Amino acid sequence: PEVSSAPQSKAGFRDAQVSRLGGAVHVHGISKSFGSFKVLDDIELNLPAGSVTAILGPSGSGKSTLLRTINHLERVEDGFISIDGELVGYRQKGDTLYELKEKDILQRRADIGMVFQNFNLFPHLTVLENLIEAPLHVRGLERAEAIRLAQDLLARVGLSDKINAYPRQLSGGQQQRVAIARALALRPKVLLFDEPTSALDPELVGEVLDVIKELARTGTTLVIVTHEIGFAREVADTVVFMNAGRVLEAGPPALIFSEAQHPRTREFLARVL
Ligand code: ADP
Ligand code: MG
Repeated sequence: PEVSSAPQSKAGFRDAQVSRLGGAVHVHGISKSFGSFKVLDDIELNLPAGSVTAILGPSGSGKSTLLRTINHLERVEDGFISIDGELVGYRQKGDTLYELKEKDILQRRADIGMVFQNFNLFPHLTVLENLIEAPLHVRGLERAEAIRLAQDLLARVGLSDKINAYPRQLSGGQQQRVAIARALALRPKVLLFDEPTSALDPELVGEVLDVIKELARTGTTLVIVTHEIGFAREVADTVVFMNAGRVLEAGPPALIFSEAQHPRTREFLARVL
């Protein structure tokens, strides 16, 4: 069936469809289980276009699964996710499952960039080849155009001199900056970061956070799973605290860090601050 024929019983569904601002993410009532283990439990998030959201929470609380769900890497069991009102998945319990075709999923995934903890660059490709791969094959850019774009992006992350290097010749911080440039090469509306600095030596964390801070000024919607509390406080509009598959609380950093409502949040913050 057409997505537009999905029932309107879930509050907010209509809003999600009409919202057309660039990169607005609406996560509505998402639940997901692995076997009998509920990894996401009725998650609700409304991220305006251009907003910066930091997701905090203990290991195993479902942060990565949530990002993967937003990026269509995980199947939605219940609820829906939309980006600029474009539906990712929707299901009403005991009712028809409304899902996108694989082709549509691939197309929509191109609007979402993802940066992983372990960089995930193609090891056998140079920096330039890593950067032009998706623009050539996903966006259908001309080679010269893709190369120009790669040069611009490398300049932006301060790595113009590494254009012909292989990933193994770069430090972790440099590899992660290339990974960010690669994600940007698809001109995503939304950029998801899953602990982008967790695998880095402490002295390399700052250069990656600086690139993300710069991005925060450009209007791309950013969602960042991080344990860097100082960074979250400085850059995020909204801090979301997850625990055991639920969003326990969400709000401006000043509020969450100084007067978290939930004991579990305060306990977590006391350990990481
Ligand atoms: P976080 O990123 O907050 O550490 P994850 O989203 O990675 O949490 O994982 C949440 C929980 O789901 C963990 O208990 C993890 O073991 C489990 N999990 C994640 N992926 C799978 C999977 N593919 N199959 C089964 N369990 C999984
Ligand atoms: Mg994780």
